[in-house]
Amino acid sequence: MQIAAPTTVLGYDEVVRLATRYDVPVEDALLIALNLYGISSDQETHRARVSVQIASAPHVPWMVIVPLNAVQSPFRLVGRDLYLEEDLVGSVRRVDADEAVGGYFRDNGLAATLNPNARSRCVGCAFCPNTLEAAADPRLAEERELTELLAAMVEQHPRRDLTELREVTVSTGCFEREDAAVTHLLGLRTVLSEHGIRARIGFLTSVIGSDTAFAELAEGVAPFVLRLTAECFTRRDLLLKASKAQLRRAEMPVLLRRARDAGLDTSFTYIVGLDPLDELREGVAALGAHVTDFPNFQVYQAHNSIMAGFRTPVAEQLEFYLQARATIEQLLGGRGLRPQAWECYRPLWYFTFAGESLTGGPR
Ligand code: SF4
Repeated sequence: MQIAAPTTVLGYDEVVRLATRYDVPVEDALLIALNLYGISSDQETHRARVSVQIASAPHVPWMVIVPLNAVQSPFRLVGRDLYLEEDLVGSVRRVDADEAVGGYFRDNGLAATLNPNARSRCVGCAFCPNTLEAAADPRLAEERELTELLAAMVEQHPRRDLTELREVTVSTGCFEREDAAVTHLLGLRTVLSEHGIRARIGFLTSVIGSDTAFAELAEGVAPFVLRLTAECFTRRDLLLKASKAQLRRAEMPVLLRRARDAGLDTSFTYIVGLDPLDELREGVAALGAHVTDFPNFQVYQAHNSIMAGFRTPVAEQLEFYLQARATIEQLLGGRGLRPQAWECYRPLWYFTFAGESLTGGPR
């Protein structure tokens, strides 16, 4: 299956023109476009973790997860050289298969993501590439198995010390019942404590929503950040699996406010490219008032023609994402929240946010 790339011809000059118009670094515009269009190459990989250096800012490597078989993409990989049409724009340092595994590290070993509930077997969201991943992720039902997962992860940690962890994210939408999710989180906190890990636990979910559950999390799991899987504000019944879609748009801000009132940290996930910009603006404004952490905004990737059909009109154009970026900066910038590069593999921000440097570089 090959990616249904937009038919738009995008050259380097056009990227520079758009970057200037929206006052963003050319490198940010290039990386957004790379996530949007994927890469054409002689590899048949549907999805790969690709470490990329942009030629004009080679001191910062970026990890992107993109298809390498996007035949219509304006980006081409030739050997290690990355071309946008005829222009050499970067190089690829490394390509790894994107496997659903039990756990992995980010932020140089300070953050871990656990996938304890066989995410690869979860289906139902129109934008989810799960079925394209090679699956090696277990379903861990017991604390003993979580202990075994942590023991295996120690071996992969850069300094073999999990007590360094500041954040442990549970990345699964596959708990479909609130009580199962809360029980899992209580068990995870027990196991982490036994290993001397005091990290905040983050959980991506739309099934935890009762005041009772929030109180249990505050009592037995905190520090904890509830990452509400909002994903989109329109066509939710069409685009989301039932357990996510049943949370109605109007209920989301109320849920986040109650979670905050219970003493929990809050955030949400959102896929940019599914909703028209005015709906994005309205929805992000409503939720943004109740978050303590910068939300996770991801560029929508279409891996086939059906997925491409779910895009909102004009979201096959780079300019849509630059407009979305400016809109979100306006809405959230004043609240002091900033994206963390390591938190998201398909972000709208790389080197700057609203003109501020995110990388500590000279920009
Ligand atoms: S809940 Fe949706 S996005 Fe999450 S793993 Fe399942 S199908 Fe994919």
